[in-house]
Amino acid sequence: MAIRLHDSLTRSLQELRRPDPTDPRDVFTFYNCGPTVYGPAHIGNFRTFVVNDVLRRLLELEYGPGKVKHVRNLTDVDDRTIGQAKKDQRSLAEITRKWTDLFHADCAALNCLPPHVEPTATGHIREQVDMIEVLMEKGNAYRAPDGSVYFKIASFPEYGALSRIKERELKVTNSAFDADHKDDIGDFALWKAYKPEEDGDVQWPGPRTAAAGRPGWHIECSAMIKRHLGETIDLHTGGVDLLFPHHENEIAQSQCCNGTIFARHWYHSEHLLVDGTTMSKSKGNYYTLGDLVQKDFDPLVVRLALLQGHPRKQQNFTLDSLHSADKALTTIHSYWQSLPLKADRATAFDAVFSALHDDLNFPAALGAFFTVINRGPSGVAKSDCEKVLFALGLGREPAKRPDRRIPDAITAFAEKRWAAKLAKDFATADALRKEIAAAGWSMLDRKDGYSLEPLKKA
Ligand code: AMP
Ligand code: ZN
Repeated sequence: MAIRLHDSLTRSLQELRRPDPTDPRDVFTFYNCGPTVYGPAHIGNFRTFVVNDVLRRLLELEYGPGKVKHVRNLTDVDDRTIGQAKKDQRSLAEITRKWTDLFHADCAALNCLPPHVEPTATGHIREQVDMIEVLMEKGNAYRAPDGSVYFKIASFPEYGALSRIKERELKVTNSAFDADHKDDIGDFALWKAYKPEEDGDVQWPGPRTAAAGRPGWHIECSAMIKRHLGETIDLHTGGVDLLFPHHENEIAQSQCCNGTIFARHWYHSEHLLVDGTTMSKSKGNYYTLGDLVQKDFDPLVVRLALLQGHPRKQQNFTLDSLHSADKALTTIHSYWQSLPLKADRATAFDAVFSALHDDLNFPAALGAFFTVINRGPSGVAKSDCEKVLFALGLGREPAKRPDRRIPDAITAFAEKRWAAKLAKDFATADALRKEIAAAGWSMLDRKDGYSLEPLKKA
């Protein structure tokens, strides 16, 4: 069953290329822009990485083992990483190592498969410099008076095809940064000359004729793609905010340098929102995975919650959505455990896969999955269900939750309140309930007793 994905360049649903199964060198090449490692990734970032992880899993299921090569980079040098190192009075390498380690731990907890190659920008300075030199030789780039190098967008008539950005918008978007030294306001930095007051000890020898300094952000992906996947790749992905200018600039750099088409297919997933605005580090309105684990949610529950919206639609994040994902995950795992090893209805989950293959329609896929679950285990084989769990990355039992011990003071309040209630002293009972709630607990009354639960914070 072919996989079809919306292509951002043609604005249409396109079938992905199927590599030749008889040619071992023919693999599907897939690049996903990775995180900037200067702080914790938030669950908005992880929405993008989880969507890409499901895509990677589907490609592997469809094309077979060894037929997909997935590369995702780490941006470990840019304004933000350098700024953070300065702020923390640490070296750039120390800062990026620390946040890379946390990113890896979060990815593992969320069941995201590691990419086959995870290149870093600082590990590919030579490749970036080489590309910039080619662009300068071909007349697509020029040296500015301070020794920086800019890409000349006027040299690439197709510039703007991906984002269809009008010239006016381009000016507004780009005018905010490095307008000095450029021939045209839309031109972007390939190489940034060293500035001692900003860059500390971060610098490398530059392209011929340029000053020492560091690469601009966009060139790293073009260089790492060329090095690890070749001049033309099958699929390039990222969150919608990367469409412009990042991906537009990648196309310009790669196509001018290599003289060939850069990516056959572009796919962009939409953002996770909080209270109607994009979750972002700069806005400070974000949750990390650690925040949610602290609230006692299993990382797989977070993963399932992130799979609940259509990836090409914005999704609003709420703690309530985690509570329902928690219930849904328990249902899925107990259904899976109830299944017989062998059965005759191998097609039970076909509708799940058709929905996934149809532009990653997660809501339809989960709907179809629950239709099968609600019909009961009869005739469905465990291994078929496991294939669905593999595709969605939900294939392990949630980690055992740490017990939330009830503090003695809360138990004492609860006992008093229960006694007051039995004595029909409702005023005292109500006052005590409020005390208990203020301490973060909720008392649930039954006919013959009560239980205490941590309050769900809204
Ligand atoms: P960054 O670390 O800022 O380079 O972002 C890493 C990835 O997360 C990129 O693909 C972004 O497009 C994506 N991203 C950033 N914010 C969000 C969000 N609120 N929801 C979904 N993806 C996001
Ligand atoms: Zn990129």
